[in-house]
Amino acid sequence: MDTKYQYAELTWPEMRQAIARQPVVLLPFGTVEDHGPHLPLNTDNIIVEAICLETARRAPDVTLVMPLITYGLDEHHMDFPGTVSVDIDTLIHYVSAVAISVARHGFTHILIVNGHGSNASIADLAARRVVLETGAVCGAMSPNAAIDPTLAEPTFSQMRRSSSGGVAHAGEYETAMMLYLRPDLVQMDKAVREMGQIKLKYFNWDHPEPSILAWQDWWSRMSESGVCGDPTVATAEFGKALFETTVENFVRFVREFRTIPLRPRQDLH
Ligand SMILES: [Zn+2]
Repeated sequence: MDTKYQYAELTWPEMRQAIARQPVVLLPFGTVEDHGPHLPLNTDNIIVEAICLETARRAPDVTLVMPLITYGLDEHHMDFPGTVSVDIDTLIHYVSAVAISVARHGFTHILIVNGHGSNASIADLAARRVVLETGAVCGAMSPNAAIDPTLAEPTFSQMRRSSSGGVAHAGEYETAMMLYLRPDLVQMDKAVREMGQIKLKYFNWDHPEPSILAWQDWWSRMSESGVCGDPTVATAEFGKALFETTVENFVRFVREFRTIPLRPRQDLH
C-alpha cells in the first residue's frame, strides 16, 4: 500500500505507525482575502495547500500534511468585501493549539507552512510556543523562502524584468501560480496593474527582498483594485516553473528540517 501523506486520512492505528516513522508534520496556514478583481478570495489557501500536498506526494516517507488552517490575520483587508479576519491573540492560541496536539501524540518535527504574508509573525510565535510547551522541534516558514535564490535566479529575474512588482499581492507571482493550479478561477480579462505600495531606501514591501522596517498599512490606503503588482504579465508557463522550483526546494528543505536533533535541556543553575 502507498504511504498515506494526508494526516486526516489516517486511522488511529495507522497514526500510531506514522508516529513511529516520524515524518515532518506540515501545517498549512492560509487566509480568505481579496486578491484583486481577477483572483478568488481563496488564492492563498489554494497555493499553500497545493505546495504542501505536492511536496508530500513526492516525499511521503518523510511528510504528513495536516488539513489547512483556512483563516488568518486580515483586519487590514476588511475594507474589501468577503475578507475574513481572526484577531491576533486568537490566532496565536489556535495555531499553536493545533501544533501542540500533534506534539502531544509524539511527533517531534512540526512545520507551520504559511501562505499569507501577514500570518508570518503569528506562525513564528505559534511555533515558539510549541517549542516552549512541548520541547518538539516546531518551526515556521513561507514557501517563497524555500526558493533557493541561486536555483530560482532564472525565474525570479524573469519576474523582475517583466513586472517589477515582484511577488507582491495578486500580482505576477500569485496570478501565475493560479493560472497553473486553478485556471478555471482566474479572470485574466479583469486583471489590472496597480503599484500603490511605497518603496523607500529602508522599506521595501515587496517579497522576496528583505526590508529592515516591518510596517503594514491598511490595504485600501494603497490599492483600489486590491492588487499590488502586475498580474497582467502572468502566464501559466511561468506559474508551472515557480511551482516546480518551489516544490523541488521544499522537498529538500523538509528533509533537512527533519535532521534537526532533539537535544536535552540542561539546568545550569
Ligand atoms: Zn495572496
